Amino acid sequence: MKNTRKYKKRRLFITMAALVLILVVVVIYVEGRLKDETGLPPTAEEPVHEEPVEEVPDKENPVDEVPGGENKDNENENPAEKPQEPSTPDDVNMVEDPAAIDALVNKKNNLSSTYVPEDLVKLEGIPTVLENPEINQLRETAYIALKDLFQAATDEEGYELHARSGYRSYGTQRDLYNSYVKNHGQAAADKYSAKPGQSEHQTGLSMDITCAAMNFQLDDTFGNTDEGKWVSENAHRFGFIVRYPKGKEDITGYFYEPWHIRYLGVELATKVYESGLTLEEYMESNM
Ligand SMILES: [Zn+2]
Repeated sequence: MKNTRKYKKRRLFITMAALVLILVVVVIYVEGRLKDETGLPPTAEEPVHEEPVEEVPDKENPVDEVPGGENKDNENENPAEKPQEPSTPDDVNMVEDPAAIDALVNKKNNLSSTYVPEDLVKLEGIPTVLENPEINQLRETAYIALKDLFQAATDEEGYELHARSGYRSYGTQRDLYNSYVKNHGQAAADKYSAKPGQSEHQTGLSMDITCAAMNFQLDDTFGNTDEGKWVSENAHRFGFIVRYPKGKEDITGYFYEPWHIRYLGVELATKVYESGLTLEEYMESNM
């Protein structure tokens, strides 16, 4: 009797132990199956799926960023976007002979989208600021004259002038203008940025110059530096004029830009300089 009870107790214990063992085996099995399906423990969080972010190449800023100047920032430009052609007003003329040394290019006299000067050369032997190959070019005659101008500044006064932005293609100007519209709005863009075809830089006869005292930037304080004063008084000897004088915004369409010089050849540059007129006024009075 006593043995029977003892035996029953032992059987119950064995049964319970077996059940616990089976339960443990089942739990381990199920957990293993779940791991196989997800590759992860069932409690772990799924990694967040991230969209691949397309890298926008950091296009070198080829132009000058000048508050109040004609040359605007290009930083947020997305090259993947299709360029938009800004509208051109009806009262705009196309420049008849864009390769002429005295070609007048402004907001009313535009260059065609296809005009590229044939005799662009690299600025060799001249201190430059930026590495962009497009803007470190000028038409050959203007380049030779610029080299002479820079040399004279050094020989006569010990100044070291630097070339910052020369030739600029229609496409580059279009991208600049569109970028300015995007960042600052149409009204501001039309006030400060040249539309494509309206920038004198497309002629390959204009150069933006600066110096160490300006930290190689462009703004109208260049006109107060010794270098800037010397340029305004001597550029014509080498065939250049300071194209956008102070107080002539209504005529030239641009604010004062003491850094922007335009090649016209020594004879015409000297006449324009001595007249005290803008190129627009001089052309009109001598037609
Ligand atoms: Zn300029």
